Amino acid sequence: MTLEIEQFACRDDNFCVLIHDTESGQTASIDAPQEKPIADTLSKRGWTLSHILTTHWHGDHVEANEALKARGNVEIVGPAAEAEKIPGIDRTVKGGDRFKFAGHTVDVIATPGHTLGEVSYYLPDDGLVFAGDTLFAIGCGRIFEGDAAMMWKSLSRLMDLPPETIVYCGHEYTLANARFALTVDPDNAALAGRAKQIEAMRQRGEATLPTTIALELATNPFLRAADPSLRARLQMKTASDADVFAEIRRRKDNF
Ligand code: ZN
Ligand code: FE
Repeated sequence: MTLEIEQFACRDDNFCVLIHDTESGQTASIDAPQEKPIADTLSKRGWTLSHILTTHWHGDHVEANEALKARGNVEIVGPAAEAEKIPGIDRTVKGGDRFKFAGHTVDVIATPGHTLGEVSYYLPDDGLVFAGDTLFAIGCGRIFEGDAAMMWKSLSRLMDLPPETIVYCGHEYTLANARFALTVDPDNAALAGRAKQIEAMRQRGEATLPTTIALELATNPFLRAADPSLRARLQMKTASDADVFAEIRRRKDNF
């Protein structure tokens, strides 16, 4: 029950991620941002797409649904709350649901905030989570449909995963995220070191993802609302974690 993973860039700054179970031969695409790079990678690897796991309804995550479905026998799974906005959806899921992909347990985590129905897919036995546009490396998704308290709760669910969990996200926003993070958390040595690494990786044209929960807990200001030095910087020593998070999100929106 080995999973092989292919992550590749598509559109302007999206990631496509394919997971392939070597035993069953089944392959899932996490979201479907763009047909051609997904089809090209499938044929390069000799894989046949069997599933699409949709995190949320935005066009840059579902655009290739119908086209990929037209190529073969593909089951599209996505959040029930957004079913009417997800082209070709076959099966709906909600937070707390558990299903199998090619024998691998998949736990559906409700992570609303960026959109109201957004979900993350956690594979506990493989130590992987697909966080869509909820959690990014050194960042988090913009709050389009929910509010800050909702997004904080969603991020807190991801923060509770085992620290070694590998995190795949919907976008390569890490460089801009790091530049912002240094403005709110300048005393964080782990962040400063990671920011340098990221500059170098992007100069070499490398992807900065996947990341891990542990690395995000140490360097992502959106997950560090409880940190005393960050709170002191924001002059919010006695505020709730959700309010500190909300302030960091507000600053990023205006950065
Ligand atoms: Zn989105
Ligand atoms: Fe997106």
